[in-house]
Order: sequence, then structure tokens, then C-alpha cells
Amino acid sequence: MDTTHPGGNAPRSDRFLAETHEVFNQPAALADHNLYAADRALREAVAREGAAVADAALLEFGGRIGAADYLELGRLANQYPPEFEPNDRFGHRVDLVRFHPAYHALMRTAIAEGLHASPWTEPGPGAHVARAARYYLHAQVEAGHGCPVTMTFAAIPTLRLQPELAARWEPMITSRAYDPDNRPAHEKAGLTVGMAMTEKQGGSDVRANTTRAYPVSSPGPGQPYELVGHKYFVSAPMCDLFLVLAQAPGGLSCFLLPRWRPDGSKNPMQVVRLKRKMGNVSNASAETELRGALSWMVGPEGRGVATIIEMVAMTRFDCMIGSGAGMRMAASQALHHCSGRSAFGRRLVDQPLMKNVLADLALESEAALALTMRIARALDRRAEEHEDCLVRLCTAVGKYWICKRAPQHAAEAMECIGGSGVMEDSPMPRLYREAPVNAIWEGSGNVQCLDALRAMRKTPVVVQAYFDEVARARAGSASLDRAIAQLQGELRDGPDIELRARDLVDRMATVLQAALLVQHAPARVADAFCASRLDGLGHHQYGALPPTVEFDRIIERAMPRA
Ligand SMILES: Cc1cc2nc3c(=O)[nH]c(=O)nc-3n(C[C@H](O)[C@H](O)[C@H](O)COP(=O)(O)OP(=O)(O)OC[C@H]3O[C@@H](n4cnc5c(N)ncnc54)[C@H](O)[C@@H]3O)c2cc1C
Repeated sequence: MDTTHPGGNAPRSDRFLAETHEVFNQPAALADHNLYAADRALREAVAREGAAVADAALLEFGGRIGAADYLELGRLANQYPPEFEPNDRFGHRVDLVRFHPAYHALMRTAIAEGLHASPWTEPGPGAHVARAARYYLHAQVEAGHGCPVTMTFAAIPTLRLQPELAARWEPMITSRAYDPDNRPAHEKAGLTVGMAMTEKQGGSDVRANTTRAYPVSSPGPGQPYELVGHKYFVSAPMCDLFLVLAQAPGGLSCFLLPRWRPDGSKNPMQVVRLKRKMGNVSNASAETELRGALSWMVGPEGRGVATIIEMVAMTRFDCMIGSGAGMRMAASQALHHCSGRSAFGRRLVDQPLMKNVLADLALESEAALALTMRIARALDRRAEEHEDCLVRLCTAVGKYWICKRAPQHAAEAMECIGGSGVMEDSPMPRLYREAPVNAIWEGSGNVQCLDALRAMRKTPVVVQAYFDEVARARAGSASLDRAIAQLQGELRDGPDIELRARDLVDRMATVLQAALLVQHAPARVADAFCASRLDGLGHHQYGALPPTVEFDRIIERAMPRA
């Protein structure tokens, strides 16, 4: 039988094998785009909340980190997780964690941009807002490296409670040089800071800590101690310094522990192993043992929780930014994909039911951003009582709510992409596995709700500040006015208040988000948010917005490409 093609010499079967089908109806990867330029909600928030001067720098940054080869760093840092080497090849204890170069590249950018320090080194109007915007953009590229960046940033307010320690360490912590070498602090150009509170028997309840602190000479704030015990979760164990909780003779206290002693020997906070995490893979998290590790007391003896809470408050704020960033990237991926993919004769983005899902994902993302950037401005103006009250109450409210909304949002965005969204070569699995982490660390959901109750009981003025804040949107939406009045009636203390805490905090968060959108977002965004989150039964599934919503214009506003 003749198997050659009539027009050539290649066998017919080979020609068919080489060209079995044409690839079409598959959108290109979302890359080489400016993460900031196309994000209208972010640009408006930056201007509104006091950081308009940062707009040009953010534009440059958004373009640089949206480049395809920069986005690839995020994939690589997670594809090749950190590895732990307890000893060097000669048997010396080194507690070395090795990272892929992509992780170091991300850290270098974050620190050069001041994500770990800029509001402390250049305070002033808009400082927290500009830093939050930069962090929001960079966390869209990769989330795991944000952990040590956040802890380094957050450590400063706690460290300043012990001024002589702050004077010694702060300049090196706030340096814009990233120096990952495993060497003593005095040999390095820049330092990072971690946090070690959690033990096996309790993380939320740190009063259960059993690690003991023994004074080296005279006891008290600023004095040296040796710590003996363990820490069950120590993220970023290659940090140069750690803020640690341990039981001193006078009660649970806070300590600053360097990874190397001043004499250049290894300080014995030994890594036992790295945790095997389902998400947050690029970031190392360790179990450690403290074998007489030298450290210095920060703040008053017995006031460890009150001292370290200054740091924890800042890490909680960054969880809001990080989860909002995850939602923005998930919504961007879904919107981009559905614009380039058709089914049943129409682009997915033009199918009515998909429009409903996409618009709803965009609303959630914009609401998370609005709340986060409002708290960033409050951080910039803490000298004003109203703003300080917002920070105290609404960081707990926002951390709980935004982090809690992220996992379902990520799952829904993944579903918009269909089967390919589940595949490991898509960015969606990484976003999905990252989504629950922020809700759990830095105070899990219930702990945040209880913290909001504690703030309202201990400092009732925060409740008034909250209602003053949401009242700024009064008469902008009948749904919002009704929801505010209802909430006022239900914020009464009573024996069942803990049982109702999630429901109350849920509603405090959505009312505050609605109030911000009513004041600052286009009416179509605010109206859709109020109609779906405040009226009726509340929001239980993405894609169930009422048919009156202006779907196309909400989608157009959120599109990741200008
Ligand atoms: C990836 C990762 C990295 C981490 N890195 C660090 C780190 O660097 N440093 C560090 O110190 N810790 C770290 N942690 C620990 C983290 O902060 C704790 O896991 C968290 O605080 C919860 O503590 P736990 O795990 O002991 O859970 P538990 O305290 O046992 O809490 C379990 C559940 O009970 C709930 N709960 C607790 N108390 C109450 C109550 N009174 N009423 C109702 N519900 C309640 C909590 O909300 C939670 O849902 C990390 C955790 C993870 C997952």
C-alpha cells in the first residue's frame, strides 16, 4: 500500500501525528502587565487615604513586578521549598535553611522597597498607606516571603518599648540591605526579625507557655536572660533576631533573642525540623528547642503579652493586606481567563451567570481593599483618638473577616478557570492553599472575634468611634442605614455575647466595608455590595447578586489589564 502523501515524501501517518490539532480558545497567561496601573480601586484608595505622592513610584513598581520573569520568581520560590541543614559538612551546628534564589530575589526587592520598615524610617502622612499599597502588590506575586518581611516590620513597635535595645538594633533592622548570610549580626548589612510565641500545649493561650527565662545577672527590663524550653512554630527561622515569650520569675515576659551571641558563637535556639505545610510553602516554619539561648528582656517583667501585642497588632494588619492581595490576584486571574475563553458560542465573561460570579468576586476584593486602606490611614494618624480607636477595634474585625473570606473566594476564582485552574502549573493552587493560612496564624478566627469583644468591653469609646465612622455614609444607602441601626441594637453585652461574637463581627465588618464603598466607590459597586451583603439573608454564595446589578461596569472596573 502507498503511504506517502501525494505532495511529499513524508509518510502520511507521521504528518498526521505532528499536527493532530490546533490549540485555540486558550487565553495567554496573565503576565507582562502593570499590577498597579490597571487596579483602579487601589489607585483611588492610595489617593484618597493620603499617599497620592507615592502614585508615580507605585506605577513604576507595579510594572516592574508584573513582568513575566518577575512573576516567575513566585512560582520558583514555591516549586523549590526551603531545606534545612542542621550541621555543616564538618559537623559544626549551623542551623542553616537553604532557599531557592527566587526567594532571595523576592526578599531583596521587598527590603529594598522598605516593606519591612518605611513607616518607621519615613513616618508622616500616607506612610502606612503607601507601604500597604506596595505590600499589596508584591504579595500578589508571592505570599510566603511576606512572613519575615511582616515580622521585621512589626517588631519595631515592641522593640521601642525597650529604648536601649531599640537604639542598638533598629538601624540594622530598618536597613534597606537584604543580607541572608548565616553570620553574626555585627558582620551583616541588614537584619530580619522573627517571632516565637507558640508552644505545643498552646498557641492562642500563650499563658500556658512553659519555656523558662533565667536571669544571667541582675533581673529586669533590658537585662540578659537564658531561655530553656521549646517553640513549636517559628517561621522564618533564619531571621537574625526573634521576639520570644518565656516565663521569667515574675511571670510571662518578652525577650529579644539574637541567632548568634555577641562573641560570635551560635546562640542555642536549635531548629529541630521544618514543618511540612499545605500552603505558604516558600516560607520556612520550624520547630525549635531553646538550650540556654541568650536573650534580653523587652518591656516590664510579667508583661510579655502586653509587650508583644504591639508586634502582633501589626502582623494582624498585614494579614489583612495579604489576604486582600490574594483575592485581587485570584479575581484578576478569573477575569482575565474568562475574557479569553468561550463556551457555548460566547466568551465566558459575556455569559450572564459568569458575569454574576466575576462581578461578585470583584466586589469582595474591592471591599477588602477599602477596609485595609482605611486602617492604613488610621495607622498614619494614630495621634487622633478616633483613628487610634479604629486601629484597636477594626484591626481585629478586619483581620477576622478578610482572612475568613479568602478561601472561598480563591475556590470560586479557581472554578471560573475550570479544570486547568486545578492544575499545579496554574497559579490557582498556590493561591488556594495560601488562603486559609492568614486566618489561622496571628490569632485564629474565634480569637479575633473575642479580641474585638475585649476591646469593646475594656475601652467602650471604640464602639462610639466605630459608629461615628460608619455614620459618615449615612443617607447614602437605605440598606446600610437599616444595617447600622440593627447592629446598634445587637451590640449589647450579655451572657450570650461570646456565642454571638462571630455573627456580630461578621456584620461589623460588612457594615464598615459598605460604609466605605458608599462614600468612596462608584455607586454601582456600593449598591451591589449593599444589596448582596446587607439585605435579605446576607451573602452565602458567589454569583447570586440581584439582576439589577450593573455587571459589565463592575467587571470592567476590576479587569487586570487597562
Ligand atoms: C504556617 C504557620 C506558621 C506559624 N508561624 C508562627 C511563628 O512564627 N511564631 C509563632 O509564635 N507562632 C506561629 N504559628 C502558630 C500560630 O500562631 C498558632 O497556630 C495559632 O496562634 C493558633 O494556636 P494553636 O495552633 O495552638 O491552636 P489553639 O490555640 O489550640 O486553637 C485551636 C482553635 O481553637 C480556637 N480557640 C482558641 N481559644 C478559643 C476560645 N477561647 N474560644 C473559642 N475558640 C477558641 C482557635 O481560634 C482555633 O481555631 C504559625 C502557624 C502556622 C500555621
